[in-house]
Amino acid sequence: MVLNQSYEFLNIEEDWLDALVLVLSGKAEPVAEYDKVVRSARASFRLPAVVIMRHQVTVRRRNRLFQVPTKRAVFLRDRFECQYCGIRITMNSGTRDHVHPLSRKGAHSLANVVTACKACNLEKANRTPEEAGMVLRSRPRALSEDEKIRCLLRTSRSEERQAWLDCMDRLGINLWTT
Ligand SMILES: [Zn+2]
Repeated sequence: MVLNQSYEFLNIEEDWLDALVLVLSGKAEPVAEYDKVVRSARASFRLPAVVIMRHQVTVRRRNRLFQVPTKRAVFLRDRFECQYCGIRITMNSGTRDHVHPLSRKGAHSLANVVTACKACNLEKANRTPEEAGMVLRSRPRALSEDEKIRCLLRTSRSEERQAWLDCMDRLGINLWTT
């Protein structure tokens, strides 16, 4: 987990290597580490669990993931469930559906894109849910800051999450704005 210089939540690196690179390049400082150690030919490092940026990063960068309806952002928001039939999907088995079709001037935004299984996406085709007689389980929408953080936290393994939350406790950081 990456915190901004101001100790606000910034991001969760998907790959631990990216977090290590932030530390080794001097861009961030570790404030909590896992027990795990990685070794290179010359040195060994404990994996950072939480790092703090040395310089303040603009929030715009943090929001990049949820700015456009990438597969990851949409699937995270919809908890990897097809929003038509409810089946669980994976990054590989699922797809995204433009509720109001792109070809009919539907927006390419989080407010118009939902998680769909390939069967539902194929069945709906170039129609609105009403035209296709399909019911959406939830209305697509942009996410609040807190919801973005919660979505990102859900992507982590429970041991990682526990290490982060312990560190937040120790530093007296409240992740939520509300
Ligand atoms: Zn489906």
